[in-house]
Amino acid sequence: MKNQVSRFVDDFMAGVIARNPAEPEFYQAVHEVVESLAPFIVENPALMKNKILERMAEPERVIMFRVPWLDDRGEVQINRGFRVQMNSAIGPYKGGIRFHASVNLGILKFLAFEQVLKNSLTSLPMGGGKGGSDFNPKGKSDNEVMKFCQSFVTELHRHIGPNTDVPAGDIGVGGREVAYMYGQYKRLRNEFTGTFTGKGLDFGGSPFRPEATGYGTVYFAVEMLKTKGESFKGKTVAISGSGNVAQFAAEKVIELGGKVVTFSDSNGTIYDAEGITTEKLQHVMMLKNAIRGRIKEYLEKYPSAEYWENERPWKAKCDIALPCATQNELNGSDAQTLVDNGCICVAEGANMPSTPEAIKVFLDRKILYGPGKAANAGGVAVSGLEMSQNSMRLQWTPAEVDEKLQSIMKNIHAACVKHGKSADGYVNYVNGANISGFIKVANAMLAQGLV
Ligand code: NAP
Repeated sequence: MKNQVSRFVDDFMAGVIARNPAEPEFYQAVHEVVESLAPFIVENPALMKNKILERMAEPERVIMFRVPWLDDRGEVQINRGFRVQMNSAIGPYKGGIRFHASVNLGILKFLAFEQVLKNSLTSLPMGGGKGGSDFNPKGKSDNEVMKFCQSFVTELHRHIGPNTDVPAGDIGVGGREVAYMYGQYKRLRNEFTGTFTGKGLDFGGSPFRPEATGYGTVYFAVEMLKTKGESFKGKTVAISGSGNVAQFAAEKVIELGGKVVTFSDSNGTIYDAEGITTEKLQHVMMLKNAIRGRIKEYLEKYPSAEYWENERPWKAKCDIALPCATQNELNGSDAQTLVDNGCICVAEGANMPSTPEAIKVFLDRKILYGPGKAANAGGVAVSGLEMSQNSMRLQWTPAEVDEKLQSIMKNIHAACVKHGKSADGYVNYVNGANISGFIKVANAMLAQGLV
């Protein structure tokens, strides 16, 4: 049996690598899932015969297009746009749009692949997709961002719709960008439908969508901590990133009595041993969301903090780590440092922030480790709730949405425990998330035949 499982994993990965040259992040995401699922799949002839996993690793459709736009100096700029429509077995494609210079097809395929299982875990009827562009919004004027978004949607609009594909935000795409994209979509299609989520509250957005990913990550960590009789109260928490997910994760940690000591961006980390209070967090939000500055500027107002140039937060002594920036931002040696310093819980607000070596350290040391596809599913869950509100032409209150979010995160946690508990009682949340996310999609694919 063991041989059969490892042969299945090796053959599967050889096929994925041969068919998708030079897409390392995609191999990494697929490999983690195949390792979790292989024992389950080789025992299930229907899944084997129908090549369900092979089909899940092949996008249903990939759209790649030119995005021409004129910058403020009147110069022509050309970017590349993508939408990966990965799997629609359980609902319309759903997943964010990323604007970052590093965006390429392989990165979006990894994100879309993860999204399929994540969306299934929420128990809402959403398939998986992801899109974006190598456009770098940093340093661009509002006018340039608007022109880029309009050009991007001028092509994308014909491939999306409220029952086809519903994009949202991701790195580099927040409320401003979603609003510009939605405005152009509405103009081209002459319809007001819930085709984007993360919209402004005045035009169909859901209360709590901005908070949802960060809050949801903390709610997931709360559930994990409860299994050990622990909580956030009095705990020191290291957070990476300083964008949407990081800011709201910090807000919830502070509310629950934890002490946040770090934020970071792609240039470095700030470490505030005294703790980042609500007032300091307001300053970070202003710095990052309004001024669109660098996290280093935190020290101009709070000079007692330290700035670690080109370093990540993981050498900070902490009880809980919340990676909320980007993929592969926490490697094996960072993980070793964290656990050696007494870290008991890692919950991923970002997608695939821990490398395979880091995950191995967490699982070997049997700490609480919540992978992104489970821990950060609160964002897309509230996006799903935004779609429902749009369809019903009504808006729930923040309290109603928060209650639903908490209940969804609890259910995801329970599903991970159900499918991830080993004989010794340790919960492997990686296996739990992969298996429980997979079952619903696989059953739907089996039922729908060879499509
Ligand atoms: P965001 O608001 O654009 O913030 C991203 C943060 O990560 C920024 O602080 C950014 O710093 C930092 N970052 C980006 N690339 C980096 C790199 N290569 N190295 C170090 N730092 C980097 O994006 P976000 O929405 O918070 O997303 C953060 C993560 O959460 C991503 O992995 C995303 O896929 C995931 N996620 C987001 C949502 C959501 O609802 N937004 C939902 C689920 C998962 P700079 O300013 O220097 O770029």
